[in-house]
Amino acid sequence: MTTKRRYLMIGAHPDDPDIRFGGTAILLARAGHVVKFVSLANGDCGHYAMSGKALARRRAAEAQAAKAIAGIHEYQILMENHDCELEASLENRRKVIQIIREFKPDVVLGHRLCDYHADHRAAAQLVQDAAYLTQVPKFCPESPIPEQNPVFAYVWDVFTDPRPFRTDAAVPIDEVMDLKCRMLDCQVSQFYEWLPWERGITVNPKQMTWEEKRRYLTEHWGSRYMTAANDARQLLIETYGEAGKHVQFAECFELSPYGRNISRGEFQALMRP
Ligand SMILES: [Zn+2]
Repeated sequence: MTTKRRYLMIGAHPDDPDIRFGGTAILLARAGHVVKFVSLANGDCGHYAMSGKALARRRAAEAQAAKAIAGIHEYQILMENHDCELEASLENRRKVIQIIREFKPDVVLGHRLCDYHADHRAAAQLVQDAAYLTQVPKFCPESPIPEQNPVFAYVWDVFTDPRPFRTDAAVPIDEVMDLKCRMLDCQVSQFYEWLPWERGITVNPKQMTWEEKRRYLTEHWGSRYMTAANDARQLLIETYGEAGKHVQFAECFELSPYGRNISRGEFQALMRP
């Protein structure tokens, strides 16, 4: 029996953890580990027609449905933080520190500082700032510091400035791609309304069979995990042997230098479900 580990993914919006860590989260939860998702903003600008409280409520309900499918422990949304207004403020720094100290994760995952979205960058800054401050007892003294600092890591992205993502650990998610698509399928406001609208396409999930939905979700949002798998092919083979050659979809992670200091090999073991 492996030791139960704890994973905390802190994203900016209530679909970022699902997109970037959903497949690994399903596998980790299935293996008995404890996984929590956090969205630092309430997502209330993620639509072309809806906005404000109704959208934030709708997205909170969608996130809880995705959580149930993933089998994870908790999906927390900071409802007081508006979309497109997230800041690496002192108040948010305190909130992030408290979330980390209360959950006591082994691994904290977040965005990188280079990203197209201002909220992702603010979330990345807040998580990076927490990597050291979590261990400072006099900061937010009402929540005690953890016995050991968590490992901090980044979730995969495509940005290249100032440098491309470096994959330190890759997790094959082929066996849970169907479930991961079902998580995305819960986020109707995003994957069938807002994001297709942004891309100039129209979809009507009410008229689609599950097979059609799955094909659509895989085509538009699954291709990034295929790219990730191909980019990480050598590492997948080193980690999973012959099976690594045939992995179609993977989620990839980069070890941050700002949390607990571990080797790349130790990080790979930590991310392996
Ligand atoms: Zn986002």
